[in-house]
Amino acid sequence: MTIIRVALDLPLPRLFDYLAADAIDSDVGRRAVVPFGRSEKIGLVIAVVETSDQPAEKLKPATAILRDMPPLPADWIALCEFCARYYQHPLGEALTLALPPMLRKGKLPRPVKEKLARVHPEVTKPDLLPEQQIALDAILAAEGFEPFLLHGVTGSGKTEVYLRAIETILAQGRQAMMLVPEIALTPQLESRVAARFPGAHIVSAHSGIADAARARGFLDALEGRADIVLGTRLSVFTPLPRLGLIVVDEEHDLSFKQQEGLRYSARDVAVFRAKQTGVPIVLGSATPSLETFYHARSGRYRLLELTSRAVADAMPTVRSVDTRREKLQDGMSAALIAALEERLTRGEQSLIFLNRRGYAPVLACPACGWISHCQRCAANLVVHLADQRLRCHHCGLENAIPRACPDCGNLDIHPFGRGTQRLEAALKAKFPTARVLRVDRDTASTPKKWQELLNAIHDGAVDILIGTQMLAKGHDFPKLTLVGAVGADAALFAADFRAPERLFAQLMQVGGRSGRADLAGEVLIQTEYPDHALYRALADHDFHRFATAQLVEREQAGFPPYAFQALLRAEATGIEQSLVFLASARAEAHHLASEAVTLYDPVPMRLSRLMNLERAQLLVESVSRPALQNFLSAWMEKLYALKAPRNLRWHLDVDPIEL
Ligand code: ADP
Ligand code: ZN
Ligand code: ZN
Repeated sequence: MTIIRVALDLPLPRLFDYLAADAIDSDVGRRAVVPFGRSEKIGLVIAVVETSDQPAEKLKPATAILRDMPPLPADWIALCEFCARYYQHPLGEALTLALPPMLRKGKLPRPVKEKLARVHPEVTKPDLLPEQQIALDAILAAEGFEPFLLHGVTGSGKTEVYLRAIETILAQGRQAMMLVPEIALTPQLESRVAARFPGAHIVSAHSGIADAARARGFLDALEGRADIVLGTRLSVFTPLPRLGLIVVDEEHDLSFKQQEGLRYSARDVAVFRAKQTGVPIVLGSATPSLETFYHARSGRYRLLELTSRAVADAMPTVRSVDTRREKLQDGMSAALIAALEERLTRGEQSLIFLNRRGYAPVLACPACGWISHCQRCAANLVVHLADQRLRCHHCGLENAIPRACPDCGNLDIHPFGRGTQRLEAALKAKFPTARVLRVDRDTASTPKKWQELLNAIHDGAVDILIGTQMLAKGHDFPKLTLVGAVGADAALFAADFRAPERLFAQLMQVGGRSGRADLAGEVLIQTEYPDHALYRALADHDFHRFATAQLVEREQAGFPPYAFQALLRAEATGIEQSLVFLASARAEAHHLASEAVTLYDPVPMRLSRLMNLERAQLLVESVSRPALQNFLSAWMEKLYALKAPRNLRWHLDVDPIEL
């Protein structure tokens, strides 16, 4: 009897056996159509076997094995198996995630006529600076797997190093993978890579790419036609039979971590993949994650430093503006306003960084105390004056802005606090002739709009930019000489222990956009804590000092990277249900957990209600990753067996980035 063992896209940690008389060993890695319940499903053949644990009479015949594309190779399946195991997720769902939607559905993209490769003008490569050369030599000297951290500020020439390394890999007839954060994958980067490798077949992979094109790119990679895969986190799963190098740019970026379903970190999966394939991996950043920095310090990753900007640009001067004794105008200090005026007179660009979009975080009635709550979440509705809406940033709920207080009828209701729209309005009022542009998720809602904004900035069609962290990811701000940060202090004392790390990275990144050789840059940080160590390290452009101090704090508190964490989260219509479920999950763990694993009490999440669901979480922690992994595997079996109430959903998040 020939049986195929199939992984199906189901939230169950098991495979399904089907009879398939015509199956042969090389069908492993092919898609199969199989009956399931009253319909059919498409899964992936994981094994061809002779016997099944199921009684023979229960086995149904598979409908078809699809042989219209090459089977997915064993190492690709192994990569998905690793993800399934590490993130405690069913293999079928991991495979589904890794396949482009079209292939998942059993379809194939229609072949396209081979386009003539666009002819790019010959680009002249700059001569490498000594530090770049050292970095490149180290990467190219790697024998098999070796992880590198390439640390260097924006403009220090990291991308140039990646491109040189890729060049050598391509010359060896091998393939390269370059991962970049969600929003950073701009046509600019794509064309920079394309211009450098005119003859190469480059596959772009990100969420903005149409289904057919994505499937085609995947097949090009699988069949060995692609030379470079350039994409966001999902492209880490692109099969590359001749993979020779992986690059993860801006490795600290949060968009590498998927926040739903299989909650994988593309950076960490990339490191696994490099190890599995035996190739070097370069993690690049101006502000590495503390996890990566820790590995570099301990010698597990090799640290490569680019200490200055490549094109003789000075680093901007960074200064705290003490706002404790000052009455601010629309949230801005006199120093910031004066600095803005100066830039306007000189025809230079300024940027104000405020990491909060909308007009104001809340609308309130001073007479009765009403505030604009979201009906579905434990959060406030944000005032969006531009389109006259109140909007929940968590669930998307929208209402018109009421004319009077819904509770007491008071006509005099006010927006409280300040977001990017309000700052934009204030700046337009203050500088009526200045061209003011706001960049946040509302104005850059699509990749196309984002690109248009970037073009406007690049063309110098903007005097004052206001923006959230999105702006930290743009490149090419040629006339930017002033960066002002307002409202940054909030992150200093946030409940999330990673908040300072993020603040430092954001400020360093936005600040790094300013200044060139002929136009010195200046960064002004409005703060009530002008002597805070974080701001002082920033002023000295000293990532090492900041990161080292953070690591000391993390070690004392027993936080990552000194401990490994997982979160079990539950959501239900009542918080009691969620907490009770987590408590029983905890009880199941009692006889499984070793000394090395700590389980905390179930608690409501910080955003305790989202979309009418009450959410709670349970933190599991260990100083030993293997101990945590072993525990989680055993625990998951119990959890699947646990009878959760019908209206309750739960998931496990391994290496969560938000607590
Ligand atoms: P990063 O990736 O660190 O932000 P890039 O590689 O994009 O830095 O380099 C920043 C700028 O400096 C780019 O315009 C790049 O072309 C230029 N550049 C990089 N390396 C050199 C070099 N060795 N000599 C001259 N210009 C360089
Ligand atoms: Zn009222
Ligand atoms: Zn909401």
